[in-house]
Amino acid sequence: MQMNYVIAGPPGSGKGTQAELLAAKFKLPHISTGVIFREIQTQDTELGRRVKKLLDEGKLVDNPTVYEVVLQKLNTPELRKGFVFDGFPRNIEQAGFLAKYKELSKCIFIDVSDAECIKRMSSRRVCSDCKANYNVIYIKPKKEGICDKCGGKLVIRDDSTPEAIKVRMQEYYKNTKPMIDYYEKKGVLLRVNGEQPINDVFKEIMNGLK
Ligand SMILES: [Zn+2]
Repeated sequence: MQMNYVIAGPPGSGKGTQAELLAAKFKLPHISTGVIFREIQTQDTELGRRVKKLLDEGKLVDNPTVYEVVLQKLNTPELRKGFVFDGFPRNIEQAGFLAKYKELSKCIFIDVSDAECIKRMSSRRVCSDCKANYNVIYIKPKKEGICDKCGGKLVIRDDSTPEAIKVRMQEYYKNTKPMIDYYEKKGVLLRVNGEQPINDVFKEIMNGLK
């Protein structure tokens, strides 16, 4: 019996962290399309250049390109036991694509209110020198506005400006939210409260999977 999981949630829900914990717990591959695309864009190939252009323009990677990349993963023996997908599928069409190849065990939905998502994202900072990530609420630097590691200046991330946050929330409501409803109707949705400490969110996931 395969353990095929998808972790979904609004931007800032902490789904990447939960995907990592779940993958480690069950010794499954954690497949983050965000990480894969950031790797691919550095490659000097037709695909790499195409992905880089989209990411540089702040656009989402289109469905055909996503399928090209995901299909390479789906065909690897690494996924024999199962997987934890994070960042894919992100709309109903992609969910349909995945369904052609794999039977989903659960879509785990990390539920976080809009206000909390916006608060978390707008508190993100990155070091302008060494690119270390901070969060002025959760991972505070010792000295305000200064990187602990290198003394560099902390700035707002490109993906966390008020305008970028608005675009990401709109994208979530237009594409991902309908996918959550689709999985709920199919009876494979596990909804967990994402507004609690990381370990408590994970406990709720584990209880829900029993
Ligand atoms: Zn730094």
